[in-house]
Parts: sequence; C-alpha cells; structure tokens
Amino acid sequence: MSADVATKKPRRAAGRSRAAAGNGRAPAVTSVVHSPSAPPTLPPEWRAFVGRWLEAAGCTVSDAARGDWEVDLSPALRRRWRRQRVRLVFDPQRPTLPRGAWFTAPGSGAGRKLLEAALEDPVCTRRTALAQVPGAPEAGIASVCRVRGLTWGPARLGPVRYERRVAFHAVLTRWGGLPLQEPWVVLLGPDGACLETVQGSQVPDIRTREGLYQISEPPSDEQRVQWMQQARGALDQLLDDREHEWERGIARLRDDELGRLGAFFSARIEEEEERLRRRASHPEDPDLAHGDATSLKLEWERRAAEVRQRWALRAELRLWGIEEWSWPVADLEQELRAGAVHVRLTSRVDVARGKPELPCCPGCGAPAEMLVRARGAVGCARCA
Ligand SMILES: [Zn+2]
Repeated sequence: MSADVATKKPRRAAGRSRAAAGNGRAPAVTSVVHSPSAPPTLPPEWRAFVGRWLEAAGCTVSDAARGDWEVDLSPALRRRWRRQRVRLVFDPQRPTLPRGAWFTAPGSGAGRKLLEAALEDPVCTRRTALAQVPGAPEAGIASVCRVRGLTWGPARLGPVRYERRVAFHAVLTRWGGLPLQEPWVVLLGPDGACLETVQGSQVPDIRTREGLYQISEPPSDEQRVQWMQQARGALDQLLDDREHEWERGIARLRDDELGRLGAFFSARIEEEEERLRRRASHPEDPDLAHGDATSLKLEWERRAAEVRQRWALRAELRLWGIEEWSWPVADLEQELRAGAVHVRLTSRVDVARGKPELPCCPGCGAPAEMLVRARGAVGCARCA
C-alpha cells in the first residue's frame, strides 16, 4: 500500500511502506497543503538547517520516498512530541500528506514546533578547524613580509597545537529608510583578543569538523567572563561602525527626498504669492479667491517631519549563537641574514588557513610588512 495516495509511483513503494509502518497505522490522506499561490520550492538552506538541528538534537534522519525524511526522534523529543518517529515533507507542491507526516516549512506548524524546541537551549556548538597540509607556505614568513638588503634563511615550522577560540554570531538589523539585515561573526582568541570580524554567517576559508579536537578541559569561569566582555566590546564597536556608515548613506537619501519636497513646496508657495498679488489688483475675480501660503508652509513642515521620521536610523544587534573552536596554530621560525647580521624572527601561523601572521619588528616590536637593514641591525620602515 502506498503512503502517498495522490501520486503513487510503484518503483518507490517499498520505501513508503516502510515509512508508513513506522507509526503502525494504515496511511491515509489527512490534509491538503497545496494552494495555487504557494511558492514552488523551499530554500535548500532550510532543509539543511532542519537536518543539522535534528542530528545535533540526537535524532536519526533517513531518506524516505519523494525527498521526504523519516526521523527517529531522540528520547527528549519523543517525550516532548509524544511520538517515536515522524515523517517530514518539504515539498510545498505535494497535494496530500501521509498520515501523521509534518509539512516542514519555516512558518508551518512543524517549522514552528522545531523552532520552539530549538530555542529552548541556547545555540552553542563545538567545532574543530582542520589543519592544512603543509601548515605554512614554503616561503615561510617571506610570504607575508618583504625585505630589502636582507635574505631569508629556510623556514622552520614548529609542532601544531590546538588553541581554544570562540566565535560569536550576530545579526545586525537596520530599521528606518531601507531596512537591511547583515549576518556577522566575531572570532576571539584564547585570551579574548578579537582576531576577526567578518560579515557572513560563518568563519570563512576553513574546513571543519564537529567536536573539539585535543581540548578536553572546559574553559574556566574567568575565561568565559573575559570572552563575554571582549565580545560585547567588539560587537558594540561593530554596531557603531555600521551605524556611522549607514548614517552617511541614509543622510544622502533623506536629504535628496527633503530637497524634492522643498522644491515642490517652494514652487507652490511662489504661485500662491503671485495669486495674492493678482487678487489685490482684481478683487472681483473668484478664481483668485482661495489659497493660502501659510497652510502650504504648515503642510510642508508636516511632510518634512514625516520624511525625517521615516529615514530615522535605528540599528539592532542580536546575538544568536556561539561556537567554541579548537584551532590549529604553530610557530614559524626563520632567519634574516645580511652579511654578519643574523636575526631570528618568529611568526604565529594560522594552520587552518596555512597563513603566517606578520612578524614583529626586532626594533620596535610592531607587526612589520617590510623589514630593512638599518645601522647594522634589522628594523621596519619606521625604525630605519
Ligand atoms: Zn620597527
């Protein structure tokens, strides 16, 4: 027997009858999900999100016929939803659902059930950034720092170790004028220093796997407090910067609109004053009797206030997730030589991206993009 009466395909009957056996009852048509105006497909990210969440929540997801999923629920979700398993249907074009199946779209009943369950615990994941091989470019520090009058010795990469990093995921929303949303990630190092602030929903340019590789101790309470404080600082800074940038863009659009409004009302008021002058010389003409420059000015002020209010900028930042990372790093050592001068430089390497940091200038200690020979020593452009 087919679980999906409306569009049965014998080829896939086995998959459906297995799925139907899951709830121990004969399948039947229970509801209609299709309407002519329904969107033809759901975004693929939604499906991926649901799958990731269900698996993270301890469920087993398996493919069923016609792109559906048969989900063996985790013990907690079995208690919550009072069922062992559920069939999820993602196709909004499907005219009928197997009995007990859930149509799973972002705003559907099932979508909201999932969202409610997902919101119960804060979104927090643990992941590992995979090391690249080789961990650093062949040229070593020379790949990020230029030199003049000096030559590089061979680069030596130390052992790879894993440090704890934390990524804070936030969504920035702009209200007023043209509303806009941007996803952002702030990545902090083990000491809370902000390493990256990137626009997007993921830390970019890395390959990952689930779990914290080589880090078993939980972070200390002091470390957590430090991360939260630093993250707040970094996110406040981000909000400030974006607000200033938005303010500039919006001010131009608002002023353009106020300019058009001003030109319109100035012309009307001028016409009105001209009419008044003519009425003074032709008091009997009824066509010139009405009109009032004062009410036009009031109307102008009212419309201008509306425009200002509509373009008033309001920004909001919402933190929605935290990722704890195990991140591969290593130290890179390399000598700079010029005749008798030998200077050993070190740089820390982000092994997940195979990228060394700028080395510190031996003279002043600042990160140096270029090093030169200066009075028998090595220094950056500023020192020399
Ligand atoms: Zn220097």
